Amino acid sequence: MATPKASADTLRESLRALLPPEALLLSAEDQEPYLIDHRRLYHGRALAVALPDSVAQVCALLAWCHERRIGVVPQGGNTGYCGGATADESGTQLVVALRRLNRIRAIEPANFSMTVEAGCVLANVQDAAAQADRFFPLHLGAEGSCQIGGNLATNAGGLNVLRFGMMRELVLGVEAVLPDGRLYEGLSALRKNNTGYDLASLLIGSEGTLAVLTAATLKLWPRMRSTATAFIAIADVDAAVRVLGLLRESCGERLNSFELLPRIAIELTVRHIPGVVDPFDKPHLWYLLCELSSAEPEPLDELLGQMLTGATESGLILEALLATGERQRLAFWKLREEIPEAQRRAGPSVKHDISVPVAAVPAFVREGSAWIKQHVPEGTLVGYGHAGDGNLHFNVSFLRPTGAADAKRREAELRRAIHDLVQSFGGSISAEHGIGRLKVGELARYASPVKLAAMRAIKNALDPHGIMNPGKVLSV
Ligand SMILES: Cc1cc2nc3c(=O)[nH]c(=O)nc-3n(C[C@H](O)[C@H](O)[C@H](O)COP(=O)(O)OP(=O)(O)OC[C@H]3O[C@@H](n4cnc5c(N)ncnc54)[C@H](O)[C@@H]3O)c2cc1C
Repeated sequence: MATPKASADTLRESLRALLPPEALLLSAEDQEPYLIDHRRLYHGRALAVALPDSVAQVCALLAWCHERRIGVVPQGGNTGYCGGATADESGTQLVVALRRLNRIRAIEPANFSMTVEAGCVLANVQDAAAQADRFFPLHLGAEGSCQIGGNLATNAGGLNVLRFGMMRELVLGVEAVLPDGRLYEGLSALRKNNTGYDLASLLIGSEGTLAVLTAATLKLWPRMRSTATAFIAIADVDAAVRVLGLLRESCGERLNSFELLPRIAIELTVRHIPGVVDPFDKPHLWYLLCELSSAEPEPLDELLGQMLTGATESGLILEALLATGERQRLAFWKLREEIPEAQRRAGPSVKHDISVPVAAVPAFVREGSAWIKQHVPEGTLVGYGHAGDGNLHFNVSFLRPTGAADAKRREAELRRAIHDLVQSFGGSISAEHGIGRLKVGELARYASPVKLAAMRAIKNALDPHGIMNPGKVLSV
């Protein structure tokens, strides 16, 4: 991308004419929270941070950037794991943070849909749906701060994918500003619409490299009226796949979530997160957290209880606890959802967000663990995650006092070995967190040349000057 000819001061002056003062952050102090990513891997600089509160302002900003060839970095809640929402170090890019574009435009219970702006926090969207007696199923640990725009742009996954799918499957239509400032008005409450290329699908998951998403029409479901949640101890990962099969056969579509946790995840969470306790009296090697729900008032505890009793009697399950009330249910989920934070507090880590076919999870865990044990003895594998989707956060923590140096020294070799293993299983090197800046090299290495060429052609067609989130997803 061409270096802007006008000086930064002239450009800032011009931005002042475009936006009201409250929509523009120019001082280093005000910009600081927007210039560092959640994992603190990247610390950028920016020409300015814009906080538009209308779609018209986003259009004006993009047209302004397009004309001057200024890089645009869209930002939502800044909870992403791959540095996608952080400006580079040049100080020439404009961060466009969508948090003030946060209206719920419409809820249509009869149509089972709602239209929300990109800056709406996910938890607020879930609450608004519940107030209309409806259910929006995207559910993830960062839901109190991540935004719908970020969820769309990363095609977020989370804890209910097994039943409801990822973000792409939860959307009926999107509204987005294209790099030249034109508005694509694709909001739609239609369930069926086969009229040419599906632009919503293309823009969802594009991580801010094709457009700024400004709103979406989301699918809603009937509000869930019964729930059953169990914390289960098992001997190994093979048992997890067998329990998953049994649950799907006996509980059908009621199974929302199926999470796998190793012993170390419990230990780190109990040690680092106040209020978290080990649900069992004695330690086990592996655990499952699973949840059923239904829009009918059904005795799901009974259904899940029967399945667990049978599986315990046959020796497949070692111990199981059915949540006896909402308090215990939330305690089980807190244990699971605080693992990333506990891992962060425990020390530096090298993270892998991978997926393999569900039936291959045990073999993958066996081979990956053996490799780490042999080649990275100073690391501790903390491999947990959405095993019902074949998605594991196969992270390696470095818990010694020299952890930061250890992680830095071993990162490249470790990442290569794990991603090569993932590739050999026909898996994905990014199951749900995207590519961002962190995995640009990994995508270039593992994606097929045909896919990369098609992606570049799309990028060039929509963003010929390469202003949208430069250096993210595809290398410049
Ligand atoms: C504790 C914790 C748990 C998590 N659990 C999960 C999980 O279970 N599943 C999962 O998928 N992720 C998970 N994440 C990762 C993260 O929360 C998701 O990727 C989320 O969707 C990011 O949303 P955000 O608003 O924070 O986006 P940001 O981090 O601000 O941005 C992410 C990307 O989207 C782009 N972007 C943001 N808004 C827009 C927009 N309006 N238009 C165009 N591009 C935009 C950015 O440029 C960037 O490339 C977790 C994160 C944390 C901290």
